[in-house]
Amino acid sequence: MKKKIIFSGIQPTGNLHIGNYLGAVKNWVDLQNSGEYDCYFSVVDYHSLTGDMSAHDRHDQIIRTAVELIAAGIDPEKSTLFIQSHVAEHTELAWIFNTITPMAELERMTQFKDKSARQEKNINAGLFTYPALMSADILLYHANHIPVGEDQIQHVELARSTARWFNNKYGEYFTEPEALITEVPRVKSLLEPTKKMSKSLGAGHVIEISDSPEVILKKMKKAVTASEGGDASVGVENLLLLLKHFGLEKQYKEYAAAQKDGSIRYGDLKQDLSEVIADHFSSFREKREELLSHHDAIADHLFAGAKKAQAVAQKTMEDVRKMVGLR
Ligand code: ADP
Repeated sequence: MKKKIIFSGIQPTGNLHIGNYLGAVKNWVDLQNSGEYDCYFSVVDYHSLTGDMSAHDRHDQIIRTAVELIAAGIDPEKSTLFIQSHVAEHTELAWIFNTITPMAELERMTQFKDKSARQEKNINAGLFTYPALMSADILLYHANHIPVGEDQIQHVELARSTARWFNNKYGEYFTEPEALITEVPRVKSLLEPTKKMSKSLGAGHVIEISDSPEVILKKMKKAVTASEGGDASVGVENLLLLLKHFGLEKQYKEYAAAQKDGSIRYGDLKQDLSEVIADHFSSFREKREELLSHHDAIADHLFAGAKKAQAVAQKTMEDVRKMVGLR
């Protein structure tokens, strides 16, 4: 029987943080290792053009993001790992989707509103039509399941609608994909725990999975808890959530009980949490360092991945061009 298809992507806008990891990448690795799926994972560099990053930084970050995915457990032999712009069909299909996507649907997207507020001086059309490109990313491979964090559910819903709009207009062709949400759909910022942890908020808000134990502890010490003002309970809940996933169950239960009866010591929680996070990623950090010094091998993997992805994408585009009357 044909395996179900998984697609997901990550922008090369910064190093992976624990939000990306718990919300998406950890799940990608588990799905890949289950052997039950045909997995496509992409560094979505076309998407990153909608942001404020410089060309130089983007260029460096694309390879670094691929390296981090491999170091975190994505195996290029098991999954199709590729750079989005190496498969130009993504933009071609996105253009076709732009022509069937109602403006009003894009106007509803909360991420567009959030991102426009964050980059007031650069509210470009790409930022607005980003979900059409994401629909193309997904539908090019006829993906069934899309493992993402909670913030992306609305976009996956739009991809489902896009499949329907296309099928209604041009004939039954695309399958509607479904979002796969992890146990930890949303990790919050350390400094503003009412917001999701995101690289675009600034370095102090996120713990990168490549951060050294010293940096983790330093950032953790500044995390907002009850004694330091801010929205107390959400900050502490966020730290407890992290402990639940990175620490021992016993340790988590003790701190959760102490939080309830008021005996919790935030300094201790932060110290213990920093240690378990640093330990969890110690082999990741080593592997990352090693891979960063082997750019050629990484480039070979990405080239092979793009070739595999492109074979599927080209077939989809041949069908689509015919269906819409371009051929
Ligand atoms: P960012 O939001 O930091 O710019 P991306 O948009 O590239 O990161 O997101 C990559 C993946 O990580 C997506 O599936 C997204 O849902 C997930 N993700 C990002 N931030 C978080 C978070 N704070 N908690 C849970 N998942 C997240």
